[in-house]
Amino acid sequence: MRKSNFHFLDIERGDPPLIPMDERRGSFKEIHSEYQQDKAAVQAERCLDCGIPYCEWACPVHNYIPNWLELVAKGQIFRAAELCHETNSLPEVCGRICPHDRLCEGACTLNDGFGAVTIGSVEKHITDTAFALGWRPDLSKVKPTGKKVAIIGAGPAGLACADIMLRGGVKATVFDKYPEIGGLLNFGIPPFKLDKQVLDLRRKIFEEMGAEFRMNTTIGKDIMMEELLAEYDALFLGMGTYKYVDGALPGMDLNNVYMALPFLIGNINKVRGYDEGTEFINMENKRVIVLGGGDTAMDCNRTSIRQGARSVICCYRRNESDMAGSLKEVKNAREEGVIFRFNLQPTEILESAGGISVKFQYTGEEKQGKDSEEQIIEADAVILAFGFRPNPPEWLKEHKISIHEDGRVKVNDSHQTDNPKIFAAGDMVRGADLVVTAIADAREAGQQMINYIK
Ligand SMILES: Cc1cc2nc3c(=O)[nH]c(=O)nc-3n(C[C@H](O)[C@H](O)[C@H](O)COP(=O)(O)OP(=O)(O)OC[C@H]3O[C@@H](n4cnc5c(N)ncnc54)[C@H](O)[C@@H]3O)c2cc1C
Ligand code: SF4
Repeated sequence: MRKSNFHFLDIERGDPPLIPMDERRGSFKEIHSEYQQDKAAVQAERCLDCGIPYCEWACPVHNYIPNWLELVAKGQIFRAAELCHETNSLPEVCGRICPHDRLCEGACTLNDGFGAVTIGSVEKHITDTAFALGWRPDLSKVKPTGKKVAIIGAGPAGLACADIMLRGGVKATVFDKYPEIGGLLNFGIPPFKLDKQVLDLRRKIFEEMGAEFRMNTTIGKDIMMEELLAEYDALFLGMGTYKYVDGALPGMDLNNVYMALPFLIGNINKVRGYDEGTEFINMENKRVIVLGGGDTAMDCNRTSIRQGARSVICCYRRNESDMAGSLKEVKNAREEGVIFRFNLQPTEILESAGGISVKFQYTGEEKQGKDSEEQIIEADAVILAFGFRPNPPEWLKEHKISIHEDGRVKVNDSHQTDNPKIFAAGDMVRGADLVVTAIADAREAGQQMINYIK
């Protein structure tokens, strides 16, 4: 039972405890420890159940948030986990890395002056706790259809599509060129935001549900589309976006200038103990400049700090309020020692006596005094984190799949490409976006694929 209608006044918003800063700056562990059930229940109980669930509308997968908060408040974790999985294929991932402050929590009625309900942390708590207690998705009532689909890409989009297939009685075989599932979740996003064991467990759960993963397999090289089209009833493409935006910045080919993703992947492989081809780039004792203002830039900042960089300066060409990523990530980076400089447009990277330097043009409105001048910042290493553009493989066109001018795959309202047997979703359709939007679109695509197959 709810304690009082004004529980939210008596109990302040309380996130799960942070690990101590000394440990945090030197370790790749997730920065928040776990909620205990009593703390999660008290936080969940702060929900006003305001009748108009703005949080649900703001959530791209339209999670039944007030309903599962109520179940957590009552201690009914298995029922809450069941409900979470009705709308989301990776709730433990979204609970950790969604930009909650811009989505569900940003829309929470309490966000206006009282501190939003900790929706993301409770979602993580539900799934982590239920899994630890042995709860698993129940597919006992699913009737096999005898149909089968091939899914290319084991990122959030591919996994969400596989989830819908398995629950619809369709056999799902997922192909990926990487050795592990997750796409950017595994090979992009650092472990201090998302512990990789979370993905190991999710892979096991998908396999128990009946998914087949064919890893280390590049479609278009190891296996051709023709083979998949002949063997499967439908195909799903969730291949992401991997072309770097480099801004054609003069000097970007100099030594000690790095692209964000190889830097992050090299570090992840080292932390995970993988002996992969991607080079480990060590920022220990270096003065690092990160250029960019999105989630990728924040990940580069915070990875450099953990590698022991002497200083990390993040330069963004607009104001702080224009930054594209999650506000909580900027806050985390700042707490860990990253220095932010705004309204600085990089114009050139130069070799200098002490290493390299970046030349900037100030872009702010108040161009007075020294701010109006060109500025130069010295560094030992520069990381370019300007984002990603779609890079559709040439062979898509051979299968009548149309591409937008900017490289995104064209789909209709049913997420179907111009080839009716092939569906697509995620970053390769939207352009670089979010985990939760890739999941939302791929789940819809999965439903449409089942209709098509039938
Ligand atoms: C550094 C970084 C940090 C981010 N942080 C966040 C965050 O905090 N929160 C958030 O919501 N989003 C974040 N994002 C964005 C998020 O990761 C993506 O939007 C999401 O992963 C897109 O999912 P996807 O399945 O479409 O593509 P991907 O995750 O890119 O997965 C595509 C998969 O397809 C595989 N593939 C491609 N071509 C082939 C082929 N020919 N054969 C076989 N396999 C193939 C790839 O190997 C890959 O595994 C971040 C992105 C980056 C780069
Ligand atoms: S999926 Fe993301 S937006 Fe939706 S409730 Fe969970 S954390 Fe919020």
